[in-house]
Amino acid sequence: MKIAVIGAGYVGLVTAACLTEMGNRVVCVDAAAQKVAALKRGEMPIYEPGLEDIVVSALNAGLLDFTTSLESAVASADYVFIAVGTPMQDDGRCDTSAVLSVARALGQSLTDDAIVITKSTVPVGTGDQVESIIQERLRLRNAAFKVDVVSNPEFLKEGAAVADFMTPDRIIVGSDSQHAREMMGVLYAPYLRRNDRILYMGRREAEMTKYASNAMLAARISFMNEIAELCEHCDVDVEDVRLGMGADKRIGNAFLFPGAGYGGSCLPKDVRALIATGEDRALDMCILKSVDERNQAQKRVMFDKLYRYFDGQLEGKAIAVWGLAFKPGTDDIREAPALNLIEKLVEAGARIVAYDPVAMANTRRYFAKFPYAARVRFVDEPNAAVVGADALVVVTEWKRFRQPDFRSLKLAMRGRLIVDGRNLYHSGHLSRIGFDYRGVGRDNKG
Ligand code: NAD
Repeated sequence: MKIAVIGAGYVGLVTAACLTEMGNRVVCVDAAAQKVAALKRGEMPIYEPGLEDIVVSALNAGLLDFTTSLESAVASADYVFIAVGTPMQDDGRCDTSAVLSVARALGQSLTDDAIVITKSTVPVGTGDQVESIIQERLRLRNAAFKVDVVSNPEFLKEGAAVADFMTPDRIIVGSDSQHAREMMGVLYAPYLRRNDRILYMGRREAEMTKYASNAMLAARISFMNEIAELCEHCDVDVEDVRLGMGADKRIGNAFLFPGAGYGGSCLPKDVRALIATGEDRALDMCILKSVDERNQAQKRVMFDKLYRYFDGQLEGKAIAVWGLAFKPGTDDIREAPALNLIEKLVEAGARIVAYDPVAMANTRRYFAKFPYAARVRFVDEPNAAVVGADALVVVTEWKRFRQPDFRSLKLAMRGRLIVDGRNLYHSGHLSRIGFDYRGVGRDNKG
């Protein structure tokens, strides 16, 4: 099969790489010339476990190429994936301009029949727009190719994206065209040998399924964050409550972890986009608004714990921050709670020493634009961050933070406070060995 993937970000690059694993020939297009040049040399623009090996071996086998030229990439392609970004606008709406501009380019550049597949997360009706843009351009060119536009939303998790693509939970194919459904079934068959979880539905239903899924995940997190706050006020440990709830098969264990608020490039923007979709139809999406509000509030929780502990005297305090990525396994810091926390702490006069296994380069770039960039320092080892620290805050639950040597931590730190934003540690044990422990939803000490 000859495949073009437009967009070489977290979704596009993983899609392109994993499609080559089954022997497909893939050309991946990105507008960013530097990114394309680096990828051609086998250099990864993102951290994603297992991705580099696949990209390098596909490049060497001649199955994968990168280009800035959409026109050359889509010429005689059987399938064209659209995987460009759809960021949030200031009003919370989804910015589909990159998707629509790709649609215009496709209408001008396609040279044969093709299946055009939208992987980007887009509001209901965007597939209809993509289709009419392409058809309009083809008409103007007097080109009578058969082009089906399919919605195939992406469900991969950053940090496990390759595994998710290779063995998906489910694949959603949104199209009413029998031909497109069959072609999508053929393309994905090699990934579905262990379970045949391909669901066919209408295009608009597929678009909505993606948003509804992310909104549900966000709702579970915000719900647990609210329960966690209540637990703190009722002298209850939310960790026991979480385990007790998760043992119910109807509820399950996933996405019940209270913490520092959800971040990343998907949940915050997709919840807001769904609220906007409701507003555009005069609907008040009251549950989703609360989910979002709760999350905004949750991003303050760790700062508030530090503020109260130090009686508002954060000026000159040295705060060690473990974890910058919005979750473990990725270098993605978009909407990461750590950024918010660090900004507030620095504004309050604190100095930050931060460590993250893979997200430090992105974070350094992020803070470089702030006048106080010098107050945020990065170190190469978690233990180096805590030397002389008045407090340690654990923001991202990387595995290597789960079992630190508390004895050496205590010796290295100046203060005694550990704010455990992910409830990784045994609160009683830490208190017994002399730390002032603050988890989320576990005590009423503030
Ligand atoms: P990203 O920002 O990492 O990558 C997008 C890429 O598209 C960038 O490299 C950018 O240079 C390129 N691009 C933008 N406009 C272009 C154009 N006109 N032509 C060619 N290239 C262009 O974004 P991402 O995280 O990969 O997300 C892509 C889409 O997938 C979004 O709609 C997102 O909501 C959705 N999604 C993301 C994830 C995730 O975990 N990141 C998961 C599921 C769905």
